[in-house]
Amino acid sequence: MVELLQAPAPATEVARAVLAAPFAGAMLIGRRWVQAASGRSIPSIDPATGQVLAHIPDADGVDVDAAVRAARAAFPAWADMVPAQRAAILWRVADVLEAHIDELAELETLDQGKPLYVGRWAEIPGAVAQFRYYAGQALSIEGRTISPSVTYQPAGKLVQAWTLREPVGVVAAIVPWNSPLVLTAMKLAPALAAGCTVVLKPAEDTSLTALRLGELMVEAGLPDGVLNIVTGRGATAGAALAAHPDVDKVAFTGSTATGRAILDASKGNLKRVTLELGGKSPVIVLPDADLDLALPGVANAIFFNGGQVCVAGSRAYVHADIYDRVLEGLVAQAQALRLGHGLNPETQMGPLVSARQAERVAGLIDGARAAGAAVLSGGQRLGPAGTFVEPTVIAKVDPAMEIVREEVFGPVLVVQRYTDLDAVVAAANDSVYGLAASVWTQSLSHAHRLSRRLQAGTVWINTHSMYDASLPIGGVKHSGYGRDSGLAALDNYLEWKTVCAVV
Ligand code: NAD
Repeated sequence: MVELLQAPAPATEVARAVLAAPFAGAMLIGRRWVQAASGRSIPSIDPATGQVLAHIPDADGVDVDAAVRAARAAFPAWADMVPAQRAAILWRVADVLEAHIDELAELETLDQGKPLYVGRWAEIPGAVAQFRYYAGQALSIEGRTISPSVTYQPAGKLVQAWTLREPVGVVAAIVPWNSPLVLTAMKLAPALAAGCTVVLKPAEDTSLTALRLGELMVEAGLPDGVLNIVTGRGATAGAALAAHPDVDKVAFTGSTATGRAILDASKGNLKRVTLELGGKSPVIVLPDADLDLALPGVANAIFFNGGQVCVAGSRAYVHADIYDRVLEGLVAQAQALRLGHGLNPETQMGPLVSARQAERVAGLIDGARAAGAAVLSGGQRLGPAGTFVEPTVIAKVDPAMEIVREEVFGPVLVVQRYTDLDAVVAAANDSVYGLAASVWTQSLSHAHRLSRRLQAGTVWINTHSMYDASLPIGGVKHSGYGRDSGLAALDNYLEWKTVCAVV
């Protein structure tokens, strides 16, 4: 039986603070921190222990309406603010967040379960980087000048045209529970840089860092109403936002099924919608791969954050010449991982976000076993709340099996053998998803060719899940459309306006 590492005792300062003040239970609308109009709340739970951390407001359409009105009221002044002023505020937000990295990382661990190092060294610094990057971009939003070739030029006149980039308006940002703060920053930073105002709805299981982010952004000088946060469930608060007639755009990250529901709900006023959805990302290990790099790299591609990563490398295709060695190495990597409470500094993998998610993941593993696949390591649920799932490696699968086709969103890797490069490209592309892929090879030629042939928004070479604020990330096929990060994301929040003049 795997022994789980425990949270340090006595509890850290952040843990004590969160537990002692059963949380204000308030969300940000306009300038005020308020309860849900209905008075209802939702418990926020430490998934490692099942302990209730806080209660967040359970917002519904009434609260959403108030938040949208606040965002609309704040829009003209924010949109008209000179870019350097908006940039200065975003840069200050980054500074304030940076000064609170330790606290935010701990809060994320308590609320989401992830090991402290993930928040401390990857995700919270990643959120800081988003605000810095888009503080810079706010200064260089530019239109073009155009000399049109119209045939009806009035005699003696000049036809001159130019384009303006204008903010889309009020943005609803709806985000999931796997990497709450950094995914939130990936929406807020470009939206605010573009001059939009925002209503944010974090996931109901993980709203605490979003609420703290709101406090810190106000402290950094964000004007009232520019950011509003409504906490609550998808089916009520989320659905009300997606359908609201005065929301101009929905920026969504989450599951493909919810993405479809949001598209339907947004039809009323033809909202702009961008969708960052699920994935089933292939990892191809060529016979010339540097295995010292590839073995830990492929293991990390799936087990980082317990596999609760949209781009997780969940389907490995390994060349027959190295298959046995790589499979053995991946099983060893999985078995060596230490599981426990994320606040324990030795913990390498925490629980999944909820018992519901752990049950779903375990069900998919059981289904694979029943279908004849070989579960070579892991596969068990553990812990006081049943939220831990052991790192799992599965072989002897058939490409038609559910475990090969469905997004698991947990620490589950399926490993398949290949011999022919064309066949492995076809197998990798044989998925409704197209979010990401990675190729492990020392051949420059294979790296270039495969990166072109794989149907994915991102292809990594000799690495996986390498993010940066400057690198666009998003999907093709059922993984959605639109991009987060990079210059591409700024476009999500800007319209083109054409001005055509006879002068
Ligand atoms: P989810 O779709 O259930 O929920 C995401 C958010 O949408 C939550 O805030 C939820 O409350 C809200 N929501 C749910 N139903 C809604 C509705 N009808 N209308 C409006 N909002 C609604 O997803 P999840 O389970 O929280 O997250 C896991 C999924 O997110 C996975 O599929 C994963 O691949 C995906 N994801 C994608 C990316 C990416 O960048 N492509 C990043 C992270 C996660």
